[in-house]
Amino acid sequence: MQLIIAGKAHPADRAGQDLIRQWIDFIRHPVARRHVIFLSDYDMSLTEHLVQGSDVWVNTPRRPWEASGTSGMKVLVNGGINLSELDGWWAEAYTPEVGWAIGDGQEHGDDPAWDANEAEQLYNVLENEVVPEFYDRNEQGIPTKWLARMRASMSRLTPQYSAARTVREYTEQHYLPAAIAFHNRSTLGGTVGTNIVHWERALREKWSSLAFGELRISSNSDGHHFEIDVYLDGLDPNSVRVELYADGVNGESPVRQEMNRFDASKSSEPDWATYQVTVTAMRPVADFTPRIVPKHESVNVPLELDLIRWQR
Ligand SMILES: *Cc1c(COP(=O)(O)O)cnc(C)c1O
Repeated sequence: MQLIIAGKAHPADRAGQDLIRQWIDFIRHPVARRHVIFLSDYDMSLTEHLVQGSDVWVNTPRRPWEASGTSGMKVLVNGGINLSELDGWWAEAYTPEVGWAIGDGQEHGDDPAWDANEAEQLYNVLENEVVPEFYDRNEQGIPTKWLARMRASMSRLTPQYSAARTVREYTEQHYLPAAIAFHNRSTLGGTVGTNIVHWERALREKWSSLAFGELRISSNSDGHHFEIDVYLDGLDPNSVRVELYADGVNGESPVRQEMNRFDASKSSEPDWATYQVTVTAMRPVADFTPRIVPKHESVNVPLELDLIRWQR
């Protein structure tokens, strides 16, 4: 087995430079020398040769630091097989037929015990699965199981992990909606656009004076009932959204439950509005915090306006 390592650390990335130095020290060891090589100055032309010439592409980031893992995708069309951490694209793409995985899809910080566990997983997969399969040849010298895995990887993954998908998804999910939004704002003499400018101006002007009253909570078999008064300082209540927020648990998305405004006529104090919502009692009351965010049907919040006011 021949291990080819290539990489480049940013001039300000001391930890990355240290890591490369450690690799180089390790490679100088006479036992490692015949099997490991480090190629410096990783760039597009070097990567072109690497992705064409590698049988297995090994990528071992600590989860969740792999942003995407495009290099693994570049390997697909060249018939290379991926052995990677279940992070980035590989968490989405991996099945046992198309390659190999390490990790458990969970985050473990920089726990050295977990690093050691994953290193052990890597050695096990290489020793017990990758290498035997690669050298398992038929009478003609063909590694049939290896080829089946390579074919599965190429045929199942290349259509899904391609520049065509990237361009299509950017177009459908971002460029076209942005173009439609622009048309919507600028048409009819810019009515919607003007409305947005006024909406934003009012929010910015009043935002620092928004305030919460006391949070009233009652719990019963139906769930937790939250009720809170909010001082809007004359803002149109439709220009904001009051919601109950809780961080996601077990990898789930956060809870963002919109709170409902009581009929304004019932509110005795001007500029105050009362909001309420009931959530299931699955999570403790202390997990939830009310907050106010901007609301406008034609505006992408928080991308275009990132105001937020937490109840503290
Ligand atoms: C593909 C490529 C990358 C990205 O690699 P990842 O594994 O996706 O981070 C970086 N540098 C070069 C020169 C590349 O060709």
